[in-house]
Amino acid sequence: MIAVVEPATERVMAEVPRAGVEETDAAVARAKRAFPAWRDVAPADRAAHLRRLADALEAESAELSTLEARNAGKPITDARGEVAMVIECFRYYAGAPERLLGQTIPVAGGVDVTFREPLGVVGLITPWNFPLVIASWKVAPALAAGNTVVLKPAELTPLSSLELERIALEAGLPEGVLNVVAGPGRECGQRLVEHPDVAKIAFTGSTDVGRGIAAGAAQTIKRVTLELGGKSANVIFADADLEAAAAAAPIAVFGNAGQDCCARSRVLVERSAMDEFMAALEREVKAIRVGDPLSESTQMGPLISADQREAVASYVPDDAPVAIQGSVPGGPGFWFAPTVLAPVSNSDRAAADEIFGPVACVIPFSGEAEAVKIANDTIYGLSGSIWTRDGAKALRVARGIDTGVISVNSNSSVRVTTPFGGFKQSGVGRELGPDALEHYTDVKNVYIATG
Ligand code: NAD
Repeated sequence: MIAVVEPATERVMAEVPRAGVEETDAAVARAKRAFPAWRDVAPADRAAHLRRLADALEAESAELSTLEARNAGKPITDARGEVAMVIECFRYYAGAPERLLGQTIPVAGGVDVTFREPLGVVGLITPWNFPLVIASWKVAPALAAGNTVVLKPAELTPLSSLELERIALEAGLPEGVLNVVAGPGRECGQRLVEHPDVAKIAFTGSTDVGRGIAAGAAQTIKRVTLELGGKSANVIFADADLEAAAAAAPIAVFGNAGQDCCARSRVLVERSAMDEFMAALEREVKAIRVGDPLSESTQMGPLISADQREAVASYVPDDAPVAIQGSVPGGPGFWFAPTVLAPVSNSDRAAADEIFGPVACVIPFSGEAEAVKIANDTIYGLSGSIWTRDGAKALRVARGIDTGVISVNSNSSVRVTTPFGGFKQSGVGRELGPDALEHYTDVKNVYIATG
């Protein structure tokens, strides 16, 4: 069994059967059997299945939000937003089965047409920080395109994915189309990567594990999409609305207790604005309400585990340049106070590594060119923000930073309708929007001679 721990209380909240290699093989076999019939479901009927699933999730959204908040330790208001996005994601991709269009290409002597064909059985491997929402980004386009799925959630947070499987079956999704295996990465995840009957792996997790998955998938030439780590820059120019930038900066890094691949954990501040920005930032950070994830007023919960807290703490040794620190509740729970280190050099360990906890590094810069240079001086390229009132400068800097997603005068990273994914070692491929569908289909080219 897997004992699932509630991070805010350190108590076991559920025990679930622990899947291993055998259960993974059985799930792949079920998905393989279900594939031909699911692929051949008429597009409008496949769309209807996805809409029914969205409706069924909506009917249970309050329970799902509470489950996710307790298991992942995230504020209930955030969990509700995530479940709403899950529902939106299934509704959005319900529009896809009838719009997976091919092309007709002018050729000599006949007709050439292309089809977007599903891949077959796809293996989906997800992390613990946004368990259900990240699962939906993969499951919804995979099913919409006509694939069957084996989903392996993280061991620490399997509950909402198991609920997704139950709700899908109850909503009438055919047996074997969506299978969940809750077990360790080194057993279930690795087996999916190696399995000859799995056509593709869509993985979200750390860059280290992603590297191993890319190497393992090469053995059977699987399609692979990887959504990996980040160390994104939040670039604040002196001509920005500094109050607005300072109000947004804490959420941009301390949201989900900093366990967010899009965390803008390098806060680049133009030197001439440092004092004013830091004063505003201090007011904001001190006001963050850290506490019980189920309380309506909580803005930040605990970290996911004791191990994670230990890893984060290693970035804040006694001699760290702690400029601002918030507070945490006493008692049980894997708490870590929101912490701002300043000033930090971009080459310091805290600025180079993805800490995956509530620790922000403030890095001063002078001028546009240096801002872009520092922002790009990282192995990652996932997200980021730019704060300025100069529209042309915003666009120049946005184009100059090597990153998959960037927002201007905003923290926004993710929308169901727009592509999301990383440059450099932050990943390969895109999720969400129309782009995701390309990663769950192959193009077939058919030539018909008419001569
Ligand atoms: P992780 O890499 O440790 O685990 C992710 C998943 O991979 C889990 O389900 C795990 O069981 C599985 N896994 C572990 N070893 C495996 C192996 N050898 N073979 C196959 N599967 C294996 O990541 P995590 O700690 O769960 O999540 C945190 C990381 O995820 C961070 O680096 C974060 O940046 C990243 N992340 C990225 C995105 C994104 O969209 N780019 C989103 C969320 C999280």
